[in-house]
Amino acid sequence: MGIFRGNVKPGNRETGIGEFMEIILAHNLGFCPGVQRSFKLARAALSGNRKVFLLGELVHNREAIGMLEKKGARRIEHPDQAHPGSIVVSRSHGIEKQHLQALFERGVSVVDTTCPRVKKVHNLAGELEKKGFFLVILGNPTHAEVTALISHLVSLPLVVGDDSSRWEKEIEKIPEYTKVAVLEQTTFPRQVFLKFQDFLKGHGIQYEIHDTLCPETGLRQEELDRFLLSGAIQSVVVVGGKHSSNTKALYLMSQNKEIKTHWVEASSEIHPKWFAPHERVLVVSGASTPDFQVNEVKKTLESFDRQNIHQPQKDQTYE
Ligand code: SF4
Repeated sequence: MGIFRGNVKPGNRETGIGEFMEIILAHNLGFCPGVQRSFKLARAALSGNRKVFLLGELVHNREAIGMLEKKGARRIEHPDQAHPGSIVVSRSHGIEKQHLQALFERGVSVVDTTCPRVKKVHNLAGELEKKGFFLVILGNPTHAEVTALISHLVSLPLVVGDDSSRWEKEIEKIPEYTKVAVLEQTTFPRQVFLKFQDFLKGHGIQYEIHDTLCPETGLRQEELDRFLLSGAIQSVVVVGGKHSSNTKALYLMSQNKEIKTHWVEASSEIHPKWFAPHERVLVVSGASTPDFQVNEVKKTLESFDRQNIHQPQKDQTYE
């Protein structure tokens, strides 16, 4: 088995391709900068003597949360559960305005770890609202980022999900004669964003669209797309939490191309029977997947056969 980082030339023995199967690790793996920042802030909060609570799922990854819990953090779902005088760490997806208020009223210190990219979308939405735009948010209405964004607005936006069969009905809710601005949940799949843009054309709506997708998740999706289009991989292992929407986006992208795709949260879920001899396997991860989890997956794959780790140049292309 050969393990590679990034793109490799199929059939090039000199790159270390093994006998059993070939493993390619994507370049964009592990925590994204926003999640890394949240995690770091949570750990810093835990280094003091005060009780630390995590409001909601800090990152969509059970093992990463488990690590913080082992250091003494306790997860809560509502501000009322935080002890007065304690520290509450909010998530990278943002914090709802009413939760922030409730925490201050309880005499709790808040470590707001909202990702700066998410904050930027909040600010943009606020500005557009002030300018009189009716906001359409392309995203999952129950996702923490979307609920937090809505809570900071004065008006109620229209949230449109990824099910294109519902879009026709959804846009009927847009008030007539209003200026419309479209924003996206930062982790939504780019293909849905492009499809929605096409859909809006020819519907007689005056709108402006703001590309608020996070480049971090875009990079992962683009990299996967390049591999899928190359036709040179036979299966994909997606590593990440089952609640992570950007991990789900990677999984769906691969599945839609009818490539054998396995979505795992932990290395223990991987089975050697999934892979055929000489199969080329790509490993990708969501933005909330810690490096250690990717490394464990790598080690498990290595253990299935002899291994030969190789890291080709980043700009090396597929042929
Ligand atoms: S995916 Fe992007 S927006 Fe979301 S936390 Fe990471 S860096 Fe921030």
